[in-house]
Amino acid sequence: MGQEDKLEGGCLCGAVRFNASPENKRFGACHCDMCRRWTAGAYLSIACGDSVEIQDETSIGVYSSSKWAERHFCSKCGTSLWYKLKNSSDCYVSIELFDKTEGFDFASQIYIDCKPDYYTFSNETKNMTGAEVEAAFATLNSGETNV
Ligand SMILES: [Zn+2]
Ligand SMILES: [Zn+2]
Repeated sequence: MGQEDKLEGGCLCGAVRFNASPENKRFGACHCDMCRRWTAGAYLSIACGDSVEIQDETSIGVYSSSKWAERHFCSKCGTSLWYKLKNSSDCYVSIELFDKTEGFDFASQIYIDCKPDYYTFSNETKNMTGAEVEAAFATLNSGETNV
């Protein structure tokens, strides 16, 4: 994507500012236990590949949440920033960070079987259970799961 597709974003306190180029405008929700604890809700994120450019990395905290992924956050205000795979530069950025979200399209929900009964999104999306997600990921990455 070109320069014109870069979207600006940042955390609650402003210590972390960045820009990124989403691969497309389709974002997804993850209902898994880890994401819900981490973000205080379903995690709504958009694939940004390796396009994230951070202005000042000094406030970025890193939590290694599994063998294959880590979760970055603002160490000053606690904002959840992005989920990043360790064995690649693939980054899934929280859509809530972006200053402008025009055209974003809610496309998918994963770990739908982990979603508690006390909330439900009414959007029409492609939904996958945790087992379906892990099977798809295993096909791509020979046996590792993705949480
Ligand atoms: Zn902050
Ligand atoms: Zn999750």
